[in-house]
Amino acid sequence: MADFQIPVLSDEPAEFVPELQPGTMAHLRPFVAKPDHNVPLGFPGELVDDWKDKAIGRMGDLLNRYRSLRVYLDSCVKCGSCADKCHYFLGTNDPKNMPVARQDLLRSVYRRYFTTSGKLFGPLVGARDLTQEVLEEWYTYFHQCSQCRRCSVFCPYGIDTAEISMAARDIMDHVGYGMKYCNEIITKVHKIGNNLGLPGPALQDTLDGLEEDVKDGTGHDVKFPMDVKGAEVLLVTPSADFFAEPHVDGLIGYAKVFHQAGVSWTVSSYASEAGNFGMFIGSYEQMFKISNRIRKAALELGVKRIVFGECGHAWRVAYSFLNTYAGPWDFLDPRYPVPQHILEFTNDLIRNGGIRLDKDANSGMVLTVHDSCNVARASRMGNVPGGQFSVPRDVIRACVPKFVDMHPDTIHDKTFCCGGGGGLLTDDLMELRVKGAKPRMEALKQVIEQQGVTHMAAMCAICKSQFTKVLPYYGMKMDMIVSVHGLVSNAIQLGVNKD
Ligand code: SF4
Ligand code: SF4
Repeated sequence: MADFQIPVLSDEPAEFVPELQPGTMAHLRPFVAKPDHNVPLGFPGELVDDWKDKAIGRMGDLLNRYRSLRVYLDSCVKCGSCADKCHYFLGTNDPKNMPVARQDLLRSVYRRYFTTSGKLFGPLVGARDLTQEVLEEWYTYFHQCSQCRRCSVFCPYGIDTAEISMAARDIMDHVGYGMKYCNEIITKVHKIGNNLGLPGPALQDTLDGLEEDVKDGTGHDVKFPMDVKGAEVLLVTPSADFFAEPHVDGLIGYAKVFHQAGVSWTVSSYASEAGNFGMFIGSYEQMFKISNRIRKAALELGVKRIVFGECGHAWRVAYSFLNTYAGPWDFLDPRYPVPQHILEFTNDLIRNGGIRLDKDANSGMVLTVHDSCNVARASRMGNVPGGQFSVPRDVIRACVPKFVDMHPDTIHDKTFCCGGGGGLLTDDLMELRVKGAKPRMEALKQVIEQQGVTHMAAMCAICKSQFTKVLPYYGMKMDMIVSVHGLVSNAIQLGVNKD
């Protein structure tokens, strides 16, 4: 099944520190972006001749622009607290996947060119020249970080490896050495409107088909509108929601919630993507451009609210940056948060009796939930501390007869990445994805064996795709992963009067 060794799952989630196997992942790297993927984004088509000078120049720009980057590179005391906290280290045993070692790949070059001690004493103070070998190491190991920020939770100085990894990818893009998967996807968003390259007419067909399916299945005229001017809500959702399993079950759930709440809504063919891969390549310019597509769509359609579907990094970008990048949102209804998450929207309706749910519709299911790293460690829901943990759980509990959490060291702000985040959800990195999923798989296996869990709910398109692919490697069924709103879709009582 696999041309690499699949890790053996331990019975003690997150408590097993692996034996070091230096260089064991040095062979694995994603495909390099081609000129077709780079040039439309304003990057050099391929690695430029004077890449070394350009890379150092770009590092200087980033250090001047982002004070946090300089602080992170200056402040590590090598305490080792982060060393065994990365799922990629735990799954691969490669010491270069320890967060502190990953940081040092960039830190050593920073010291050499931007600190007095590094210029004077070089290797004695951990400084090293930027060579082709170092560049290759950057390319390999900064594409083995999903920017999940788990390590930063355990760092006494709060050093954010994700930000260092984003800076490294940005530098590589600026010398023409970016990754194909992310750059190709961003190019598609600008050309077509979404990550999958699904054009408007195909999207319309898909939505029409869903409308028919739901009518056949429920007898209710649940609409799946596109480009409807004057709708109250613009739904911005990951394009995987339009067709992939189990994502589409979530989209059907959103539509049923809007229908039952009597709230008009629409998707936009122009901004038909919630994902914002600008974050993965560390490009604030791309994040800005992609965010502004949502503003343009909202203005053209004359909506009053913006609601985001289930997508972890999209919610992180939206929650943290949408107001800065694409605001002011003074043309929207001020009574609602901008943006709002579909889980907040649904949870509010559950709390105020706006929808009714029947747990028996999900009978036989014992649920656990995977906290998406970008939701858990980079955002909030419900405008209350910890709302990003309680709101999804409240919605799930309202839909199913039994819910249990996984090991406390693997949930909430300590959640393990699914293994496919941060722009790594590409088949050329399958070995990394499978190995990086190990800590989550161990925690899942434990609740399956001890609590009878049958399904794991996720609130992120990348997590859903990743788990669907890697679960079978660990002997589990791919259909045990479900969308949170897939559960809502099953349980919602259409046509039943509100309280
Ligand atoms: S941000 Fe996540 S993937 Fe990157 S080093 Fe830290 S724990 Fe590992
Ligand atoms: S926990 Fe923080 S200070 Fe300690 S080694 Fe890791 S990055 Fe450095």
